[in-house]
Amino acid sequence: MINTLRPIYLDYQASTPCDPRVIETMLPFFGERFGNPHSVNHRQGREAEAAVEHARGQVAELIGAEAREIVFTSGATEANNLAVKGAARFLKERRPHVISCVTEHKCVLESVRRLEKEGVRVTWLPVGSNGLIDLNDLAAALDEETALVSIMAVNNEIGSIQPIAEIGALCREYGALFHTDAAQAAGKIPLDVEAMKIDLLSISSHKMYGPMGVGVLYVRRRPRVRLEPLFDGGGQERGIRSGTLPGPLCVGLGAACEIAQGEMTAEAARLTGLRDRLLNTLQARLTGISVNGATDRRIPGNLNLSFAGVEAETLMHAMPGLSVSTGSACTSASVEPSYVLRALGLSDAAARASIRIGLGRPTTESEIDTAVEIIVAAVSHQRAGATVVAQ
Ligand SMILES: *Cc1c(COP(=O)(O)O)cnc(C)c1O
Repeated sequence: MINTLRPIYLDYQASTPCDPRVIETMLPFFGERFGNPHSVNHRQGREAEAAVEHARGQVAELIGAEAREIVFTSGATEANNLAVKGAARFLKERRPHVISCVTEHKCVLESVRRLEKEGVRVTWLPVGSNGLIDLNDLAAALDEETALVSIMAVNNEIGSIQPIAEIGALCREYGALFHTDAAQAAGKIPLDVEAMKIDLLSISSHKMYGPMGVGVLYVRRRPRVRLEPLFDGGGQERGIRSGTLPGPLCVGLGAACEIAQGEMTAEAARLTGLRDRLLNTLQARLTGISVNGATDRRIPGNLNLSFAGVEAETLMHAMPGLSVSTGSACTSASVEPSYVLRALGLSDAAARASIRIGLGRPTTESEIDTAVEIIVAAVSHQRAGATVVAQ
């Protein structure tokens, strides 16, 4: 056939495929079990409702929450907007101060900037070269006016894991709410909203082998966290998020959470092995490679590498057989170097020489070995000053 080989996909921080087991679980809900989960006056509605409530429990289980603390949204972008704007606007009179971090995802950065325009005082925490905040900076920024601290659990570009439990403890001391964007953390590292003193937590289904178009905001009930909703409507999801729930997608996310919880430990070990194999073989065959971000506090499925003297954009074009990225997908349309890498202290040139490699559930050892060949060939040729298409 004329079909050429599909590129090897190593961009699992941008999106993950739906697990086949998740698809299987969802299918009936696109068909005969199609009911509106809010139409509880008839059988179809009640069946859909029961399925959504089962899924709510599966999500809650993954993060140590109660089912009724789970609010379904369209994804992590909406969950982050709802958490950040919703909490800050509700508390604006008594506590007009918000703390966040310069390496947050765009949807948190822009939500906080919106609040800033509305008159909220904002403190932006910097990060060290490992991508982590300094807890002393956070302690110094907190005061009795702080409504909310929003710090992501795992960064989408460099995979660094923030000290979530320590941040939660500090926030509790000052009576500030703690929101964490866990889009890259959920299903990958253990999360416990009680032990980590998290009040609000965002999840994205398509980052954890669930369907696109659904996510979750965990909203603590004891003590109760109040939010100003983003949408007006029928008052679904405890009045926090109006709109008909997408039953099949909620069911899929629930199944994805249960699978991730069961397989987390073994999968983490497997991905760590594959990532070490990738890095070690690259370093054995190429000079001038640096790892961006933390080495120890990092999720197993992420590598972010700078190749000295190489332009990442050009490199990617020379590797059509490999799907990787040069930073976050949301900013890759612009020519600006990644703001996350710049925040780590990388020079413009080093940031532009960086690629993000994301390993995931379908990644195999043979894919890693082929990826190494592709990268070594492309980097060597670019460094030699030649333009080449490596297959
Ligand atoms: C992907 C991502 C988001 C946005 O999630 P969507 O569900 O795609 O809206 C937010 N934060 C982080 C860290 C992400 O990786």
